[in-house]
Amino acid sequence: MDAKEGPGQGASGNSQGALYVKLGVNYSTETALALSSLLFSQAFYRPLARQLWFPTGVLQLAYDDKEQRRQVRFLENNVYPPEVVHAVSATQARALTGTELACGGLWFPASGWLKPAELCRHLLKHPNITTVWGHRVSRLSRQDGRWQVITDHPTLDSDHVVLCGGHETPALLPEPGYRMKAIRGQITQFSSAQLKPPRAVICGQRYLNPASDGFCLAGATFDLKDTTPAVTNHSHTENLTELEGMIADLWQQERPALEDLTGRVGFRCATHDYQPIAGELTDTRGNAMGITVFTGLGSKGLTLAPLLAEWLADCLSDQPEALPSELRSRVRPERCRLATG
Ligand SMILES: Cc1cc2nc3c(=O)[nH]c(=O)nc-3n(C[C@H](O)[C@H](O)[C@H](O)COP(=O)(O)OP(=O)(O)OC[C@H]3O[C@@H](n4cnc5c(N)ncnc54)[C@H](O)[C@@H]3O)c2cc1C
Repeated sequence: MDAKEGPGQGASGNSQGALYVKLGVNYSTETALALSSLLFSQAFYRPLARQLWFPTGVLQLAYDDKEQRRQVRFLENNVYPPEVVHAVSATQARALTGTELACGGLWFPASGWLKPAELCRHLLKHPNITTVWGHRVSRLSRQDGRWQVITDHPTLDSDHVVLCGGHETPALLPEPGYRMKAIRGQITQFSSAQLKPPRAVICGQRYLNPASDGFCLAGATFDLKDTTPAVTNHSHTENLTELEGMIADLWQQERPALEDLTGRVGFRCATHDYQPIAGELTDTRGNAMGITVFTGLGSKGLTLAPLLAEWLADCLSDQPEALPSELRSRVRPERCRLATG
């Protein structure tokens, strides 16, 4: 059930998105979750290769001194299989991406980019999924041990509800006090006549995807205090400037005029610790409430969602659980609840 008139119209509605993670210098629970999610999502998307999923490789650029030092320490501290990630020089990076780069970075050969909006439409074609569009849920109400999902039109009734309303999820929780925030992001779309598209995804302060149907998308601003829903020239300028700092010889001719650019704004949902929320809510006495929450995917939803969704489906259908206990407790909703009393 969704407030919008069709699938993929929230943050997940971009035409392109990159499959990337940042692996920590020190191996931690956060890195274990990022790595497991990356490997799981690459396998999950594989059947959709060359339709919705494009495993072109992803280059994480050592774009400034700080990131270069971080990558050196990452390589000193960790041994990853080269098919997951390995270091590349500037010469290798130029050859892999077909782009004029001044530095190398970390190369994720099995990663790439997706068409998120189309992916949402594709995943909903499952015969066991029934959709209800254009119904905004105003609240959940408990009656006779079941949840009433209250909307402006019909009311649904269920023994279990999964809340996945992106940055709007907090408004639907049965009690306030969960530490989540909305973070605006604007992407900028270029035609291949404006910009020299790379052959692989390049990530740095921004990311740039290879071209698809004559266009490539670069993202995204990270606006903690800005809630403007409309596309702004200010955000386009920020994206252009950051891209120019990452890639020399970016433009086909000259920097495109702002009025020739298109874009899209979305709002990410981030938690206080920038880790996702997935799991069933419990009341103050630790009893399961029949409400599962799935949000807080931040800037990495395309990577995190497949594994966490698989695990939530395991829980709801009494299957062996796809997530080890350490990761389950890392994503549990209760950690985001403000202490009371
Ligand atoms: C500009 C931008 C670029 C990004 N680029 C990338 C990228 O390259 N790679 C990556 O991995 N991630 C990227 N992200 C992050 C990624 O898009 C998100 O993590 C992901 O889309 C979140 O999915 P979601 O389903 O939680 O939220 P959404 O996609 O926002 O979906 C929430 C849904 O809930 C519905 N809803 C909300 N409230 C109600 C209500 N009361 N009643 C009914 N329905 C309701 C909304 O209509 C919406 O359809 C980007 C995000 C932005 C904003």
